[in-house]
Amino acid sequence: MPNLTDNFGRSIHDLRISITDRCNYRCVYCRTGTNGAAFAELPFEDYLRMARILVGLGITKIRLTGGEPLLRKGIVEFVRDLAKLRTSEGKKPDIALTTNGHLLAEIAQPLKDAGLDRVTVSMDAVDPERFARITRVPNGYESVLAGVRASRRVGLDPVKINCVLLRGFNEDQIIPFGMFAREERVVVRFIEFMPLEEDRVWTPQIVVALDEVVSRMSEYLPLQEIAHEGSETARRYRFSDGVGEIGIIAPVSHPFCGHCSRIRITSDGKLRTCLFSAWDHDLHELMRRGATDEKLTEFIVKVVEKKEERHHIGEPGFVPASRTMVHIGG
Ligand code: SAM
Repeated sequence: MPNLTDNFGRSIHDLRISITDRCNYRCVYCRTGTNGAAFAELPFEDYLRMARILVGLGITKIRLTGGEPLLRKGIVEFVRDLAKLRTSEGKKPDIALTTNGHLLAEIAQPLKDAGLDRVTVSMDAVDPERFARITRVPNGYESVLAGVRASRRVGLDPVKINCVLLRGFNEDQIIPFGMFAREERVVVRFIEFMPLEEDRVWTPQIVVALDEVVSRMSEYLPLQEIAHEGSETARRYRFSDGVGEIGIIAPVSHPFCGHCSRIRITSDGKLRTCLFSAWDHDLHELMRRGATDEKLTEFIVKVVEKKEERHHIGEPGFVPASRTMVHIGG
């Protein structure tokens, strides 16, 4: 069976493709609010060729992201084409989407019909006013909620919600999100804030860490940890009465780099082996110059071998990534 492996013995089977770095939200912890898109978008056929080669090399999961991926016309057809790929075991790759959910309600059914398996919707508050302050877009909350509900209705399963917690801003939303998970039957995942924002405002003090989330949520209802697979980013917990699940993604307080199985393609076709990479690798330039599939494969294998061992968040001499989250694809 083909297998992409790095020099630390990690097997890479998870691919994230950013299909645009445009976004219709200006979340305070992600964007400056004034900067726009910075990088090109490729025709879908170029991402498809990269995905086909990578699936041939052992990728089994593909997540579409951005920027805001639903801003790209043609995403349904792209998902349909991705769904025709086959892994070495003859299976369709698992196809997921990360979105802010603003445009999701209308397109959830066509995406599901095209072969999308799962969706993650980013929401950083469950209160409409706070939601608008974070996203800097008026009246978004109702659209996103409609998107979440439409996703459940059409059978995208599971529907996950990503919430980035910032101290002094939305950590009072922890328990309301617990209630939301139970009422809406979605998996809410809290993400520790990472130094990947355009404004470079990150400090360790702003991060609301895993232990604090668990202890705050336990004031509402006791939690039981669920066993999770090594390569899963989130620690998982269920409420003690069995209704509802939350997850915590803790790259700052509990790094999981040793189990990382991910690589990324940026909207302009660069291969990135870590969110915090200081370099990216120009796969698209090779394609543009007419490289064969064999040449592209050779390039990918070499780049992946040199995947970074781990990130260095919070350590002295930390070097910021060469791109911020919205321009990488989260
Ligand atoms: N627009 C889509 C969305 O809102 O989900 C996809 C792109 S967005 C960059 C992907 C995810 O990254 C979102 O869940 C967002 O909250 C998260 N994110 C952005 N900046 C982050 C940061 N500095 N630390 C942790 N997560 C971040």
